[in-house]
Amino acid sequence: MKIKNLIIILVMFISLFLVTGCSTRSNYNVTITTTIFPLYDFTRQITQDKLSVKMILPPGNEPHTYQLKPQDILTIRKSKLFIYTGPFLEVWADKLIDVLDEDKVLVVNVSDNLELHHEDDDDHDHKHHHDVDPHIWVDPILAQKIVDNILENIIKIDPDNADFYRQNASNYKQELVKLDLAYQDLFTKIEHKTIIFGGHFVFGYLAERYGVEHVSPYKGFSPDTLPTTKNLQNLVKVIETTGNRTIFYEELINPEVAEIIAKETGAKLLPLNGAGYITKADYESGVTYLDLMYQNIENLKKGLNYHE
Ligand SMILES: [Zn+2]
Repeated sequence: MKIKNLIIILVMFISLFLVTGCSTRSNYNVTITTTIFPLYDFTRQITQDKLSVKMILPPGNEPHTYQLKPQDILTIRKSKLFIYTGPFLEVWADKLIDVLDEDKVLVVNVSDNLELHHEDDDDHDHKHHHDVDPHIWVDPILAQKIVDNILENIIKIDPDNADFYRQNASNYKQELVKLDLAYQDLFTKIEHKTIIFGGHFVFGYLAERYGVEHVSPYKGFSPDTLPTTKNLQNLVKVIETTGNRTIFYEELINPEVAEIIAKETGAKLLPLNGAGYITKADYESGVTYLDLMYQNIENLKKGLNYHE
C-alpha cells in the first residue's frame, strides 16, 4: 500500500515537472494515439510538429482483424487523445473506453456525427457492428468532416495552439476539396460505371458519392469472411454484361480471389488501395492518404476507360 502511494506521488511529481518544465510552444510530449492510417495521416497534417502522433495499427496489417497488443493499450492509456473510426471497425474500443475515462484520455469516435451505411439484410432485425460500413475515409467529403472532428478535439487538449491547428486543417481541407474535384472529373468521364473489386467491400461510400456501382465477392464489410457464391456469380455477370474487363484487387487481403476471377473471365488486374492501412514500403517512403487516393484515380482511369 505504501509503495503504491509512493508511486502515485512520484507520478504526480513527474507530471508536474513535465508541465512546468516544458514552457515552449511545442508540446511534443503530448501524445495522440490514432488507430488506422487515414486517421493518423489526417491528425499529423493538423498537428505538424507540435504534438506527437502515434498509429496503433502497424504498417503491413489490416484493421478488421487486428488484435490489440498489451503495449498498444499502454500507449493509448498514456496519451491525451485517442482517435478511432468507430466500434464497427475497432471492435475492441468499447471495452477500453471506461478505463480511458479514468485515465482522463479524451476519446474521439470520428464517425459519431456521420451518416453511415448499413447492410440491407432481411435475415435479422438487429443492427450489429458488422452491418455498418466502416470505410468512411474513402469519400473525400466525409474525410473533410473527419478532419473537422479531429481538429475540434486537438484544440481541446492544446487550446494555446488552436489557431495553428485551425490553419493547418483548413489548408488540408483545401487539398481534400481538390481531391473531390478530381474524383468528380474521373467519374463523369468514364465509360464503365461499375468498380469491379476482387477485395472486400471498401469503396461503398466513394461509389455512392459519385453515383457509380461497386461490386465485391465478399459478404458484409469485412475481409474476414469468405467470398459468397452468389456475390461471385453476380461479379462474373457484371463482367459479362458490361464488357468491362478490369478487376481491381487489394494488395494485403486475398489478392488470389481477384486473380482467380481474372483468370476465369479473361479480365486484367489493377490495384486499388482502400487507404485504411498502409504497406511497410509505403509507410517507409512517406506515402500519404492523398498519394494513395490519387494513385487510385490513375488506376480507375485505366480500368474504367476514361476519356477527356
Ligand atoms: Zn476494410
